[in-house]
Amino acid sequence: MLDRKKILEMLETFPIASNMVQRGMVGLQSFIKPMEIVLTQRTIPEKGWSDTQIRFFLEFLANLDSNNDPQAMRIGEREARVSTPILYDLTAGFIHGIGRSGNLKAAQPKAVGGSILNSLSDSFALNILKKHGLKSLQGAMTVPMGTGMTLMLAIKGILHQFSELTNKTQLIFPRMDHNSPRKAIELTGLENVTIESIYGKSLLDNYRTLKKNKYIEDYIKFIETHGTDAVYIPIQVIRDRITKKTFGVLSTTSFFPPRAPDNIIEIAKLAKEHNIAHIINNGYGVQSTTFMKMIEQAMRGGRVDAIVQSTDKNFLTPVGGAIIASPNKETIRKISEAYAGRANAAPILHFVVSMLSLGLNGFQQALQAQEENRSLLELELNNLAIQLNEMVLDVHNPIACMMSLKNLTYPQIEALGGFLYNLRVTGPRVVNPKTKDFGPSTQSYPHPYIVMNAAIGSRREDIIGAISNLKKAYLQVQQKFS
Ligand SMILES: *Cc1c(COP(=O)(O)O)cnc(C)c1O
Repeated sequence: MLDRKKILEMLETFPIASNMVQRGMVGLQSFIKPMEIVLTQRTIPEKGWSDTQIRFFLEFLANLDSNNDPQAMRIGEREARVSTPILYDLTAGFIHGIGRSGNLKAAQPKAVGGSILNSLSDSFALNILKKHGLKSLQGAMTVPMGTGMTLMLAIKGILHQFSELTNKTQLIFPRMDHNSPRKAIELTGLENVTIESIYGKSLLDNYRTLKKNKYIEDYIKFIETHGTDAVYIPIQVIRDRITKKTFGVLSTTSFFPPRAPDNIIEIAKLAKEHNIAHIINNGYGVQSTTFMKMIEQAMRGGRVDAIVQSTDKNFLTPVGGAIIASPNKETIRKISEAYAGRANAAPILHFVVSMLSLGLNGFQQALQAQEENRSLLELELNNLAIQLNEMVLDVHNPIACMMSLKNLTYPQIEALGGFLYNLRVTGPRVVNPKTKDFGPSTQSYPHPYIVMNAAIGSRREDIIGAISNLKKAYLQVQQKFS
């Protein structure tokens, strides 16, 4: 990016002492050098960049695009023409977007800078996921859609990739109560075979009456690891639902308690054994070393076709992007070809900017803060539970905690969320399984409850303030509806 010799020659023609010019170059070089390293190595810098560096870098890339070439004669129907310079700012100059009509990741002749940005984002995605545990990955790509739409795209790409799966019609979906994956399945046209989950304590009671074997002992260990108040989909039930029509399984790692992560290591073995696809919804699981280890082990010991994670929930970007990763490079290519048309560059740009700004160190620090906040959340919620004669339920979720609401009446539970909202607490989930079927990811969960999260990016003050206001809201609803 910087021809030092040439710049020196130019600067030295000015009436400034040579040693001063040399000194000036030192500063300029430390500004530019990190950009050269990123463009050569295509990895996320250890140390985050300043905003000035990021702006300079983006401007450099954007000027490779034809719409920013003042001499270009633009006679196409889509020529990155915009009505106001504000739109230049809002897109950082990447007005052409990314991709070509038949492939989300193909280089776009009019957008050389945007294409480099697109490719760099994929390298960054692979880099950060490998760094955080997914060593077996062979490919990753950023996608300009949320998690749900991206799951749909991944499934479509995999359907095209394997001729033996192309005509299959059913997708096995271990139940998790979020509408987005359900709609994703609907959009693929596959039949959704949802498998009910079972309360951990009931499963344990059941397993303890059975004759011990390795399968049962492993499952008891799995339940003890993830919490006895969590809900589970036993691997045996998944196995029983595989038929000649099965395309594959859509499993989940990170989700709201009481839903435990799926036993993806065993599902991967099943998928391999039955020659069916396995897609993992790792929504906000990058921030959990436990989930990342499970995924790596699943890739090593069985079949995983694609792993989907949200950019905003893991990497501190605005909503709108996701990353698809795979131990199979060809899968990534097939998925990028399943995308219809061009796309806005924003979600890709946001991911690159966030990674440049954080650097690997900044991301690591954010993960550490998340872990500390998760511990703090449990501690504070435990204290509150004692005061209210409630209990923190036995769910070992790496992001969230869950407290019972057994001393509240139905109308009080109903009102609690609204009271919290008015006290400026956002994001808690209040569920009464007796009145609401969708939420606990199981039928007849035995406790009404509240779930609170300590996700990446949350602050100590958020946790402390939210718990203090939860106490307030709890007492308010008790008073108001007594
Ligand atoms: C957030 C989330 C989704 C939905 O994400 P969108 O980006 O809104 O589509 C799906 N699954 C899981 C596990 C999630 O956490």
